[in-house]
Amino acid sequence: MNPFDYARAGDVAEAVRLGAVPAAAFLGGGTNLVDLMRETVARPSHLVDVTGLSGGIEDTASGGLLIGAGVTNTVFAEHIAIRTRYPVLARAILAGASAQIRNMATVGGNLLQRTRCTYFYDTDGSRCNKRAPGSGCDAIDGFNRGHAILGASAACVATHPSDLCVALAALDAVVHLRGAGGVRTLPFAELHRLPGDHPEIDTVLQPGELITAVELPALPSAARSTYRKVRDRSSYAFALVSVAAVLDVKDGRIADIRLALGGVAHKPWRATRAEALLRGRPASAQAFRDAAIAELADAKPLSNNGFKVPLATRTIVAVLGELAGAVA
Ligand SMILES: Cc1cc2nc3c(=O)[nH]c(=O)nc-3n(C[C@H](O)[C@H](O)[C@H](O)COP(=O)(O)OP(=O)(O)OC[C@H]3O[C@@H](n4cnc5c(N)ncnc54)[C@H](O)[C@@H]3O)c2cc1C
Ligand code: SF4
Repeated sequence: MNPFDYARAGDVAEAVRLGAVPAAAFLGGGTNLVDLMRETVARPSHLVDVTGLSGGIEDTASGGLLIGAGVTNTVFAEHIAIRTRYPVLARAILAGASAQIRNMATVGGNLLQRTRCTYFYDTDGSRCNKRAPGSGCDAIDGFNRGHAILGASAACVATHPSDLCVALAALDAVVHLRGAGGVRTLPFAELHRLPGDHPEIDTVLQPGELITAVELPALPSAARSTYRKVRDRSSYAFALVSVAAVLDVKDGRIADIRLALGGVAHKPWRATRAEALLRGRPASAQAFRDAAIAELADAKPLSNNGFKVPLATRTIVAVLGELAGAVA
């Protein structure tokens, strides 16, 4: 581990001031960052502890919820308003990590956790463009079972590891930010990047920009929402494929649908093509299957992960079928 200094921010303004130093990093629960520092993948020289800036969970004037970036994953998942109004979020969070890690992990840190690509963590000889730009990508011709099938590039085929983020993508959440340039908000779908030629850059955040909160819109249809995660074992495993969905069926037709996939791309994948095909259509197993196939049509599997295409297709159909109830 490289040497670093540590300061605990007393308020948001102080966190932004301390975080403006080059090579500074904000410290949430440390459940990802500290591992990255131990492996020398991350080498911040200043750690700014932001766990004192929780912010809590509050109703917004527009009928949604504002979740402070320092709220732990456990508190987030257990909150009654989350469980009843946005169950997809509670299910996604509880599908991740372990109870002990969720007790430490914060909302801000969850959003900015880094990929679990093995080569990214292996500083002992593996080539990785995300860790060392220009060095190459050992996953492309290597062990790529967990890697991306959508939106990848010749530079990087990593997936985004967060479960929570898949649910936030489906819900059209908004990220609240504060940096040296002031405050701004960002649609959640725009926070994470596809890798392109610069996989070392995960998000569109400016250096030193602090996530202060995540806002959930008022979305009555989200009361009928769920998250399903397919993985190699039932705990301590990242998604091979996951599906977050909101479905509102009125008189047999789909009045509203929001669908996002995890484990398939460098960012949570909002399934806009499938949504467009389904909105206003009769809710049937065949319609769900057609939409899932259309969403996966551009998939480009790697040598070890071709199974993700039928797996994602089947999981979409199963999740939408579950939300719709018994469909033909
Ligand atoms: C064994 C294990 C299994 C796991 N399994 C899963 C899983 O199945 N699903 C899943 O989704 N996750 C899983 N995780 C990941 C876990 O959810 C993340 O490590 C956690 O959410 C990160 O939160 P944190 O507060 O500890 O972040 P930290 O480790 O403190 O920080 C992570 C990143 O976020 C930045 N950051 C933190 N707060 C802010 C802020 N407010 N503003 C700007 N930047 C900030 C940090 O600088 C750092 O870059 C697992 C982790 C472990 C160790
Ligand atoms: S897939 Fe991305 S993170 Fe993994 S080795 Fe290749 S460049 Fe690195």
